[in-house]
Amino acid sequence: MKKVAFITGGSRGIGRAVAKRLAAEGYAVGIDYLQAREQAQDLEALLRGQGAEALAVQGDVADREAITAAIHLVEAALGPISLLVNNAGIAEQRQFQDISEDFWQRIFAVNVTGPFHTAQAVLPGMLHEKRGAIINISSIWGQRGASCETAYSASKAALIGLTRSLAMELAPSGIRVNCVAPGVIRTDMVEVLGEETLSELAEQTPMGRLGTPEDIAAAVAFLAGDAASFITGQVLTADGGFIL
Ligand code: NDP
Repeated sequence: MKKVAFITGGSRGIGRAVAKRLAAEGYAVGIDYLQAREQAQDLEALLRGQGAEALAVQGDVADREAITAAIHLVEAALGPISLLVNNAGIAEQRQFQDISEDFWQRIFAVNVTGPFHTAQAVLPGMLHEKRGAIINISSIWGQRGASCETAYSASKAALIGLTRSLAMELAPSGIRVNCVAPGVIRTDMVEVLGEETLSELAEQTPMGRLGTPEDIAAAVAFLAGDAASFITGQVLTADGGFIL
């Protein structure tokens, strides 16, 4: 059966590495992006050049209509989605006292409501096929507290709750739902921390280095594949031992 993946936030960072890895494993890939059209289209061309089927589509995960339309576009072009990777996410450090209601709502709209929208959009197809997998990219800060990241941490913990509950609900239908919780991964998201903080974080990591987007793509590929066929509702932490 044809394997079709939809990756939210596939233009940059972790999502980009996930799209490349899944394409290499024989998936046709839908690459969702918010603003980075050029990078998403570049990736589409790169993967097509390698013989994979790929389609870049714009869609804000927080906008139910827009992301549902993007998913339908991909399904019309590539076929029913068998793997959804909810990777799009936003983070910003702020002291709790300085968080506005708008800021709080936006973090939750992208990091939690986004996966709610996308899962509801792909489920009719997955339920019809009685197969499928959903992988949510949470964070170690959804498993542990993070000073000055209360909104982000709460949203990533919520994503873990969504994962576990949806996994129970969908298991009888042959659909698995899991999470990957990355540690500190070198992408645009963490560049704002600056070199000094990043090397301190690498030192605090038992494995002595920061993670790469490819490290997370490998964890996603494992949870997506047949080797994980009896695994659902789990959180796979990929952090070099950071929160042990
Ligand atoms: P980046 O900031 O490098 O990339 C974010 C990606 O998400 C981009 O492709 C961006 O699109 C997309 N995106 C952002 N908002 C939206 C939206 N509303 N709708 C659709 N797409 C959107 O992030 P990372 O690659 O570092 O992070 C990916 C995921 O991994 C996130 O969920 C993050 O929370 C999580 N994570 C990251 C860690 C890290 O250390 N980097 C650690 C733990 C978890 P565009 O390019 O168009 O702007």
